[in-house]
Amino acid sequence: MAQTLEDKQYLLRFNCDTESHLIIKNHDVCATSCPGKDCTIFCPAEVYKWEGDRMFVGYEGCHECGSCRIGCPHDNIEWHYPKGGHGIVFRLA
Ligand code: SF4
Ligand code: SF4
Repeated sequence: MAQTLEDKQYLLRFNCDTESHLIIKNHDVCATSCPGKDCTIFCPAEVYKWEGDRMFVGYEGCHECGSCRIGCPHDNIEWHYPKGGHGIVFRLA
């Protein structure tokens, strides 16, 4: 039987840093110039959540796919890999 996304998520572990490796450059741009809130759609890990009038970034769950480097239509996300030893850890089933 094929693995579900939830099954695959179970294979991920995270060694979280205390500082985010994902920075919204200008929150006003999200609020005023991005009606689609594309990051809430293209991010496979659902890191970006629009709540109230602000974008919240749950960087701890980032899969490091890099999509937000190119996916934000306003180039409004500063992205880099987490510091060494931090971030996503894959493990075998
Ligand atoms: S896609 Fe970019 S500009 Fe739009 S809400 Fe997300 S971070 Fe903000
Ligand atoms: S790198 Fe991928 S998983 Fe991480 S926040 Fe960006 S789109 Fe989401």
